[in-house]
Amino acid sequence: MSFINNKLAIDLGTCNCLVFTPKKGVVLNEPSVVAVSKPENKILAVGSEAKAMIGRTPDNIVVYRPLRDGVIADYKVTEAMMRYFIKRTKSKFGFIKPEMVISIPVGASSTERRAVIEAAKAAGARSAYVAKEPILAAIGAGIPINSCEGNMIIDIGGGTSEVAVVSLGGIVTATSVRAAGDKFDEKIAEYIKKNHNLAIGSQSAEEIKIRIGQAFPQKKEDFFETRGRDLATGLPRNIKIFSNEIARAISDVLEDIIIGVKQVLKNTPPELSADIMNKGMILSGGGALLRNLDQLFSKTTGVPCFIAKDPLRCVVKGTGIVVNNLDDYKRSIMTKK
Ligand code: ADP
Ligand code: MG
Repeated sequence: MSFINNKLAIDLGTCNCLVFTPKKGVVLNEPSVVAVSKPENKILAVGSEAKAMIGRTPDNIVVYRPLRDGVIADYKVTEAMMRYFIKRTKSKFGFIKPEMVISIPVGASSTERRAVIEAAKAAGARSAYVAKEPILAAIGAGIPINSCEGNMIIDIGGGTSEVAVVSLGGIVTATSVRAAGDKFDEKIAEYIKKNHNLAIGSQSAEEIKIRIGQAFPQKKEDFFETRGRDLATGLPRNIKIFSNEIARAISDVLEDIIIGVKQVLKNTPPELSADIMNKGMILSGGGALLRNLDQLFSKTTGVPCFIAKDPLRCVVKGTGIVVNNLDDYKRSIMTKK
């Protein structure tokens, strides 16, 4: 029936890896985390199993994200992780080798691009293509990227915030800022250390952000109870943390993202600026879920801001659309092999 129509889309994100098939939708959604045993350099666990080990390992096990900061920091491990994820979805596409499109960060080098393509082929791809994340996010957010009108997308992931203006199927101006979800977590942990004398792990910091995080202070605020290690006594202690504290803790990171957005707006040709002013900018990625972020962006830039539907899945959906319509998206695809 669909012998030659086997297609796979992969969002290789710094935080989460998603795999999508046009027929079945999202078939895998796992953290991009790997646990490795130190002396042997052997992979012990991948995905959520590995993420659960963060902050809890003995000396001889390291748990890390091979794509930290939006670049492929360790492509041997990235390749192993990709193979593992593809293998896990194999039953979904049977024995026929699929065509694959993989999203990669804007900052990925040509060596890294080749490494991803090689890894995809090693994992069973008939042919593999890579495309840049913000363009895929835009497609997944329903933006008609092939039109001659300018559209702006801001994808806030774990490692980077990628800001791009797209028109006629390609990126016109873009920037990638190393200020995103991970930095929010770091700043929250730092703030709690300084102001509450308490050490918390990155997982707890992320939980606080997701539960009560917000982009700027509000009259009415929420609180969340968290536990950590008291820096003076060394004993476990609970504290109540308030959402306005989180807004203060992460304000510098937000400022860095806004600087990136303003820079892209400044480099945008006037015709496209006018389009963006009319239509607004679209937010995607997990960071788009931070409360009031859209309001903060529209307040600070004067451009209306909208959150894409299902922001955590925009990139993989866009990648799915591209793999299903390769000819229509030739300009968005960067490499073929
Ligand atoms: P990547 O593309 O880098 O893998 P994602 O788009 O999957 O990243 O987004 C992951 C980031 O989004 C993480 O930093 C995570 O903590 C953050 N995130 C997820 N849900 C929320 C939420 N409700 N509020 C704020 N941040 C969130
Ligand atoms: Mg992403």
